Amino acid sequence: SRLPQDRWSWVEINQGALRRNTRAFKNLLNPRQRLCCVVKADAYGHGAVACAKIMYATGADMFAVATVKEGVELREGGIVSPILLLSEPPAESIDLLLEHDIMPSVYTFEFALAYGERASQLGKIGKYHMVIETGMNRIGVHYADVIEFRRSIHFHRGIQCDGVFTHFATADEQSGWDYKLQCKRFDEAVAAMKDAGFECGIVHCDNTPASILDPSTHYDMIRAGIGLYGLQPCETTRPIFPLDPVMSVRARVTRVAHPAMGEGVGYGFTYRVPRTRVQICTLPIGYADGLSRTLSNRMDVLYQGERIRQVGNICMDQCMVAISETSMGRMPEANYGDVMTIIGRDGDAEITMDEMARLRGTINYEVACGFGMRLDKVYV
Ligand code: PLP
Repeated sequence: SRLPQDRWSWVEINQGALRRNTRAFKNLLNPRQRLCCVVKADAYGHGAVACAKIMYATGADMFAVATVKEGVELREGGIVSPILLLSEPPAESIDLLLEHDIMPSVYTFEFALAYGERASQLGKIGKYHMVIETGMNRIGVHYADVIEFRRSIHFHRGIQCDGVFTHFATADEQSGWDYKLQCKRFDEAVAAMKDAGFECGIVHCDNTPASILDPSTHYDMIRAGIGLYGLQPCETTRPIFPLDPVMSVRARVTRVAHPAMGEGVGYGFTYRVPRTRVQICTLPIGYADGLSRTLSNRMDVLYQGERIRQVGNICMDQCMVAISETSMGRMPEANYGDVMTIIGRDGDAEITMDEMARLRGTINYEVACGFGMRLDKVYV
């Protein structure tokens, strides 16, 4: 039922790399500890259902998503593992949660009550994970209020706590006071709930950097995201935990031209053809595909193992690159249909997500998500 590829640009997903990275995280754990694979935002742009199937086959125990729709997509794609929604959705989506067995995160009395009431009405038990706010100031029950919160919802027979978790704001700075303070507040809140007789279920807090850098906080489960896709969360993890990049981005040349000296290229003519002969190649990839317009005239692409310059303003769906005489005096003329690499390897050359993130002033997470939004995905 898939439509044929209708555009000469695509994201290439290396299934072997995804498998190796997943195994590397699994190997950090003892047999009683679980691996929750974070596949929100369409698996950081890599394709949620396809990636979840590979992760499941490699030992994933649970999947985490950011929206109810993402959870439903996994279920409809055949994923039967536990699914955790990483925030509280609006009460309107409670029926969908219960129908598809997706566990929400819980941290407000209002939501807990609505969830429990609806579960009871349907004769179900609504499992949930309670979020503890330990310092990031994003979501969760404040660490000092956990007992009060549990008491306030305890009477409800329709809900059951399957886990408790927090999220680190500075996991890449392990030696820092902020990270240690979050750990301490989490430990104390969990201990207090257990002492008071409240079920805590699966205790978890580690994202990718914390999983790699601090085994003491693996508890019952880790929640790995970025590392599964072969991207480093920070410089500290790079030398000690090698990962294989999973996503490459490629396009084929859709037009070749040799405009005369002085001719402009693209909207606003931010590039003009210089004195030397250049070949202008058009690629069918633009800012609506995740190739940010802020990269215009500043990024390279790879062609036959060489770096060539992107020129002119990046358009919504297309961009242009220039092949000019290189310093060696050689000009590899490109042809209609030739493949160019926007992210990934070509021969000995490589353009990484990190290089593009640096150029854009952002992080590899955002670059990967962007490329996942419209481009076709090809699994190799
Ligand atoms: N847990 C939560 C609550 C998150 O929001 C995220 C991602 O932002 C993760 C885990 C995974 O983080 P990472 O991709 O750094 O491993």
